[in-house]
Amino acid sequence: MPFCTSHSSGIGSSDTNLHSLAPKANWLGGKRFASGTSKSEMETWLNGLDIKQSQTADSAKQVGVFDFQTKTVLLNSGYEMPINGLGTYSLHGDVCASSVKSALKNGVRLIDTASAYGNEEEVGQAIREAINEGIIEREDVFVITKIYPGSEMANPEAAIQACLDRLDIDYVDMMLLHHPDRNDVKAYKAIEQFVRDGKIRSIGLSNWYVEELESFLPQVTITPALVQNEIHPYYQENDVIPFIQEKGIVVQGWYPLGGRGHTAELLNDNTISCIARMHGVSSAQVILRWNLQKGVVVIPGSSNPDHIKENTELYHFILTDNEMNRINALDRNEKHDWY
Ligand code: NAP
Repeated sequence: MPFCTSHSSGIGSSDTNLHSLAPKANWLGGKRFASGTSKSEMETWLNGLDIKQSQTADSAKQVGVFDFQTKTVLLNSGYEMPINGLGTYSLHGDVCASSVKSALKNGVRLIDTASAYGNEEEVGQAIREAINEGIIEREDVFVITKIYPGSEMANPEAAIQACLDRLDIDYVDMMLLHHPDRNDVKAYKAIEQFVRDGKIRSIGLSNWYVEELESFLPQVTITPALVQNEIHPYYQENDVIPFIQEKGIVVQGWYPLGGRGHTAELLNDNTISCIARMHGVSSAQVILRWNLQKGVVVIPGSSNPDHIKENTELYHFILTDNEMNRINALDRNEKHDWY
């Protein structure tokens, strides 16, 4: 229910204009309050509307707390982000476009790409096609992209605009700095300006750890909404995750299945396979669910429609404390990539 105040005029045509922008909304009558209206007058009006608890639940949502009903998390930027998505690293051309399409058809609403992946055009094309085919509306999907160190961060405005142009989906839900760089503060401030201009909604960082965050955060205005780092059962970052989460910043894990070349060992891990059998699910689902229960958003990469679908089916089983602890015990500080 939109709420408006005005200087002196009435609600005018806002009612009909807003309604057409939110066609799925259950529309209730609005009211204009004069300046100086007391809190109790507004409460009396609100209470008289008989709004059910479920309709007001949003206001009770806490930043960073996963909602397993809606499968989303509220970011410190005020936007909601799905907690499971599709990663598109190493997917190109038709394979990338059809993987994104397949994900969208299977209900995935979070897509992770990057300038460095060289596939933003395909990702954007798949999203536009899905919109044209009525599978989604633009607002339904949350798209993350990233700008890269070196020349991109040295000329951030051009690099950011190039991402927007290649994706061509009106706005970007979140832009990350892909890695720390000597120009990272300058690049971040450039993204902040795109946020103010309404072309980007939220900002985040990738491959930032405790020391890097401690020196970076005091230098920027908008607190990052997300940090995306390597996280899987063999590399758990148990010291870094709480440090980030305590700041109201959401953590997202890359290489959740260990990354290409390492997935077989993780998926065949005895502990994980045994837990998977107990729940009648796959090892991949156990690893993804373990992440979610730790408050870590997952973006597994896949070009296999069956895997893409399987990776969305994470909400019909719960890992016990004992099972979580057994997976926690698998940590061997084994990073699968250099950054
Ligand atoms: P990953 O998700 O750990 O593993 C992908 C591999 O797992 C693919 O070979 C895929 O094969 C397989 N797979 C996926 N679902 C499966 C399932 N249900 N059962 C069996 N195998 C399955 O690695 P990733 O894609 O490289 O990483 C995830 C995402 O993180 C990337 O796509 C990217 O968006 C992001 N990322 C970010 C950074 C960074 O620096 N910020 C770095 C790396 C990655 P199939 O295609 O056959 O399913």
